[in-house]
Amino acid sequence: MTLLRDVEVAGARCDVRLAGEVVVDIGSLADAGDEVVEGRGGALLPGLHDHHLHLLAMAAADRSVDVSAGLQALIGQHADGWLRAVGWSGEGDRYDVDAVMPQRPVRVQHRSGALWVVNSAGVRALDLRNVHLAGVERDATGEPTGRLWRMDAWIAERLGRTAPDLAAVADRLARLGITGVTDATPDLDRDSCALLRTVPQRLLLLGDPDGDGPVKVVLPDHALPSLDELVARVEAARPRPVAVHCVTREAYVLLLTALDIVGHHPGDRIEHGAVIPASLPPWCAVVTQPGFLLARGDDYLRDIPPADLPDLYRHRSLLDAGCTVVASSDAPYGPLDPWAVVRAARDRTTRSGQVLGAAERVPARAALDGLLRPLQDITRPPRQVQVGAAADLVLLHVPLAEMLADPDAGLVRQTWLRGVSTVASQG
Ligand SMILES: [Zn+2]
Repeated sequence: MTLLRDVEVAGARCDVRLAGEVVVDIGSLADAGDEVVEGRGGALLPGLHDHHLHLLAMAAADRSVDVSAGLQALIGQHADGWLRAVGWSGEGDRYDVDAVMPQRPVRVQHRSGALWVVNSAGVRALDLRNVHLAGVERDATGEPTGRLWRMDAWIAERLGRTAPDLAAVADRLARLGITGVTDATPDLDRDSCALLRTVPQRLLLLGDPDGDGPVKVVLPDHALPSLDELVARVEAARPRPVAVHCVTREAYVLLLTALDIVGHHPGDRIEHGAVIPASLPPWCAVVTQPGFLLARGDDYLRDIPPADLPDLYRHRSLLDAGCTVVASSDAPYGPLDPWAVVRAARDRTTRSGQVLGAAERVPARAALDGLLRPLQDITRPPRQVQVGAAADLVLLHVPLAEMLADPDAGLVRQTWLRGVSTVASQG
């Protein structure tokens, strides 16, 4: 058995004993026969849950060129075969990629995750002239522009899959104190589901065809389905709840209308909820990404109509309306670090230091509580360190109040997953 001696649980110093995968005792405990970890007053919390990310895309991003600062990062990447790049915020086409890398086939993922842009060598390698799928964008003459919308599965099929290094991803999660994740990738095939289950973290897969949790439904930002199509998709998902990718004002109106027709399920949730108009009824459960305010906030301030800004990534006003709002990363498209996410929910500052929606700031504790809610049902209360609970735990170097005053992943000391210590950082 493992004894965590002198840790802070719910504000009080105590000892916590683990046996197998479970917390078996809390109090002032003798330590004969136990393996002892000295907590020195650091907070012991349930392991964090990231309620929306994409594990396979995270692994793929690890072997890609980061073009978030521009396509110039591709210059000089001379080798054979396909080059993969991620994080582009540009709006260009194949010719923009040709300008920096004409020789080698390149595919560049837009930071939204919805779009790949291939250069002319890539258009030839994929034989796009002879591919007649809706996602292949064409110009007025019928020539492919190199822009491929939501064609990840097709591209992977064409290029062959590379075995992703999920172990490195899982290790990174554990070092941050994350013991459970919701993979929000839609329409996973069974092989991908089996691969994802090799990750030691607790998992909820929104794209699992055989699951019983929420089903991911995507409302593409630029190509909304008709009301009838959406109603049919939600009906097909029942009796499971739906987790709906919903970013724009128009998508939100469409979704509300569709659910009024089909009927609400208590487990229905909205992913992103980037614009939820205050003039419309609020949603019951929203999985938001405060990290985008940090990573992209300056772009939002420049690009989004001023009238939409008060409705952007609402948090406080939805909590006040009685909704459940939980934070998540959307990694690799948003910053993974959950402590940076808590900080972003509290401060809502952009990289340049401007505050985006001051009225929507929430206390750090409220953001943390969202990360402690169960994966399967985010409307249930935050998990607690208590006898009988799973030994999914994170130990901090400092008391909780100190962490909440200045959230920082460097203050995570050790993580347990099913009673097994997966990380012991230095310090
Ligand atoms: Zn996502």
